Amino acid sequence: MIRMRLILLIVSALSASVVFAAGAVVKSPTGVAPDRYVYYPGTEALKKDEIRLIACGTGLPAARRDQAATCFLAEIGNGDKFLFDVGTGSITNVAALMIPYDFLDKVFLTHLHTDHWGDLATLWAGGWTAGRTKPLQVWGPAGATPEMGTAYAIEHFLKAYNWDATTRNFVLSAEPGKIIVKEFDYKAVNAVVYEKNGVTIRSIPAIHAGDGPVSFILEYAGLKVVIGGDTFPNRWYIEHARNADLAIHETFLTPTDLVRLYGQSPAQAIAVGTQIHTSPQAFGKVMSTIKPRHAVGYHFFNEQATHDHILLGIRQVYSGPLSLAVDNMVWNISKDAIVERMIVSPDQAWAVNGPNKPPAPPARGSIPDPISDFIKSGRWQPAEAAQAPMVDKFKKDNDLK
Ligand SMILES: [Zn+2]
Ligand SMILES: [Zn+2]
Repeated sequence: MIRMRLILLIVSALSASVVFAAGAVVKSPTGVAPDRYVYYPGTEALKKDEIRLIACGTGLPAARRDQAATCFLAEIGNGDKFLFDVGTGSITNVAALMIPYDFLDKVFLTHLHTDHWGDLATLWAGGWTAGRTKPLQVWGPAGATPEMGTAYAIEHFLKAYNWDATTRNFVLSAEPGKIIVKEFDYKAVNAVVYEKNGVTIRSIPAIHAGDGPVSFILEYAGLKVVIGGDTFPNRWYIEHARNADLAIHETFLTPTDLVRLYGQSPAQAIAVGTQIHTSPQAFGKVMSTIKPRHAVGYHFFNEQATHDHILLGIRQVYSGPLSLAVDNMVWNISKDAIVERMIVSPDQAWAVNGPNKPPAPPARGSIPDPISDFIKSGRWQPAEAAQAPMVDKFKKDNDLK
């Protein structure tokens, strides 16, 4: 009986969902397939009143080739782009969208677990070498004490990467290697942390592992997207994620699968899976309470077995429109429709050149050379001679001395 009800719930939910890109008929064997399933990055202009939201990481702290750790990219019809979390491995997926690094300078961190900011180094240094012309800007929560906050984390991140920055500063402009931190109060409820060009981003507290974590609410053109960070279901999300067009919230592996597949002890699994994260049933309760236009669950290794266990848990309590996110899922959100597709791009894709010229490197002699005379004395002259004609031509072509 219970199983019957479950199946009915699932069937009714699927038939009620309007989110998937609907197909049309292919009328000719030489014609084209309808616009369906697939988004090819860089091939569609965003409409003014539209948001394109891309899951660039949906996984866990442990690495998995199929899923990077948390990262959502929001592309806004006014031209803004915001990265929400940059979890380990996620920047590979971001780069494959072929967006110039200059457009990827705004990062919002929900909290400081590696699976939410572990790829900041990749964005920071990679973007610096590949065309970003200005500093990164990072918004993130304060902590219960200064050394638990985002400003402290970024200050010490830059210290940890001192060798990296010092050596790059000699040959590249230092400007794109800077990080501007905008730390805000993690306890503030629905407080504005960003407001510009018609976009408002607010934060609400989250309940996860320690004080500090938050979730974000993005509003633009009458649309509301909630980017839930790691949390046990909390009253702030229930109150402020209501009427969301797209409500993202974590839903964790079941305790049984945490033991069976993820190497955790039962005591650990029940604490992690039901106290500092959100179980599938609890996720379902959140969504059946706030009733978004579309719900998105993430933060688990998504494969047939785990997916079904999570879906069955959620469907015990929630029957509305739902995606269980995987990497490279994309939602086009407008007043008319929410359309879900998958991104298709070649593995070879990388971020492309932007409109701005890279800033000039520092003048010779203005910064101490990080390579000593001893190390320089080891340069092998036949290599120098072999490349000399190519170097001379390049310098002439580019008016370099
Ligand atoms: Zn976390
Ligand atoms: Zn996490």
